[in-house]
Amino acid sequence: MVKLVIFGPPGSGKGTYASRLKERLNVEVISTGDIFREMIKTGTSLGESVREYVEKGLLVPDEITFNVLKENLAKIPKGKGFILDGYPRTVWQAQALDRIAKIDAVIHLIVPDWIIVKRLSSRRICQNCGAIYNLLFLKPKNDMICDKCGGPLYQRSDDTPEVVRKRIEVYEKQTQPLLAYYRDKNVPFVEVKCEKLETPPEVIVEEILAGLKKLNLA
Ligand code: ADP
Ligand code: ZN
Repeated sequence: MVKLVIFGPPGSGKGTYASRLKERLNVEVISTGDIFREMIKTGTSLGESVREYVEKGLLVPDEITFNVLKENLAKIPKGKGFILDGYPRTVWQAQALDRIAKIDAVIHLIVPDWIIVKRLSSRRICQNCGAIYNLLFLKPKNDMICDKCGGPLYQRSDDTPEVVRKRIEVYEKQTQPLLAYYRDKNVPFVEVKCEKLETPPEVIVEEILAGLKKLNLA
């Protein structure tokens, strides 16, 4: 039962890779970003307060985020592993997580800023099944429709240039220090660099799997 964290700047492909690793490793994926987007849709008061942060590219407060994580971890069948996509994002969150689960490895995605900006501005997501596309290099057959389920594709409201810049800034300031946190704790790292916009997800996924195998985690 493997417990992983996938870590990287916005637009580094965390969600894309996590959804593919899910099948290969037979684990559950918990994406706090996806969960928050669902919460926003419900229009509850908690959803509304989450919206305030997400739409500005700011982090949702730690306590709210940790409660959401705990609830979702509790739903995972006993004995099944998981990948956390988008959690933790602060040292506080990492410490809270440590109290309830022991992470086996951190998958660290290293991606230059120019790729992030290009990817996010051309990202499209299926409203129905959540599949992630890119109009430049991970093109759906039709720009408006999901290949997998025929659902409509949309652009995330926080994928605008202004909010993207804010998200990168928040990542540098609040999330990068987490790498030191995991290094200090001697949690093993699988580091994967992506230096080309056109690298297909499969290539990166294989590199991640090879790294996990070396650690006897895949
Ligand atoms: P990305 O990594 O591409 O920025 P995500 O879907 O992971 O996108 O997150 C979208 C937004 O959801 C973040 O900008 C933030 O507002 C919120 N969010 C997601 N995960 C967390 C977290 N662990 N802590 C605080 N806020 C979070
Ligand atoms: Zn779909």
